[in-house]
Amino acid sequence: MGVGIQPARAVEMTTAGEKVLQKRQPLAKQSMGIVAMALPVALCVWAVVQDLTTINQEERLNLKALIYVLVASYVYADYWLWMLHCFLDREENMQSRFQNVKHLAIIFQQHHDVASDLLKGNHLGELDEIVSATAGTALLLGAYTSPSTKLISALICVWGSLAGLNHFYGHARTARYEIPALYKYGQDFGLLPTALHHKNHHTAPFEMNWNFLNGFHKLYEAIYFATGSSYTGLMCMFYTCNPICFQMWGFALGILA
Ligand SMILES: [Zn+2]
Ligand SMILES: [Zn+2]
Repeated sequence: MGVGIQPARAVEMTTAGEKVLQKRQPLAKQSMGIVAMALPVALCVWAVVQDLTTINQEERLNLKALIYVLVASYVYADYWLWMLHCFLDREENMQSRFQNVKHLAIIFQQHHDVASDLLKGNHLGELDEIVSATAGTALLLGAYTSPSTKLISALICVWGSLAGLNHFYGHARTARYEIPALYKYGQDFGLLPTALHHKNHHTAPFEMNWNFLNGFHKLYEAIYFATGSSYTGLMCMFYTCNPICFQMWGFALGILA
């Protein structure tokens, strides 16, 4: 999924006080790998075919089921992204014995050091592995799941990608780049976290606004602080409630349908 290079323009003031458009480095192109794009699409196609071939009309997807899919996928994605971010921002993970976690923690914490470097790279592409793993797990379990469950897994990938792109364009907005209308108006209408909201996360003491979607971060942060900012609590959630394990739990406990 290519999003394209945005105009490399920013409004600057001349000494005479006139507004001029000054050239500067363009924003990096945001794109998603072919596998990370294909797996959620395959999941959606499977869900639609499965639904169309369901004989019992009462089991077919209807408006109520689609609202459930939208709400459930959004709530989980909001929770997962908050927890992922809060966990990877912890300094303890810089020494993690798991190289993937250590690597991600370094990326997250380097982003705090030089936030504008984000604009030079493919931020969306950094999500490829987790998107592929989430949709891949759902495909592996697909023979046992309903169309609704498949759509929830696919939408978690979509919300995650939207959140990642909004993070990128939020920083671009802070740096006074022009950003696509979806993110600009999404932020202005309160549908997506604003550039200012996220800027507060990058302001000392860096202990707030770990969210990438507008959801329940205030509740999560209240609980987190009530536990004394427990690293153990975050670690347990990260290793048991990530999208791969979460789907496995649902399958093992027989509640995934
Ligand atoms: Zn952070
Ligand atoms: Zn940031």
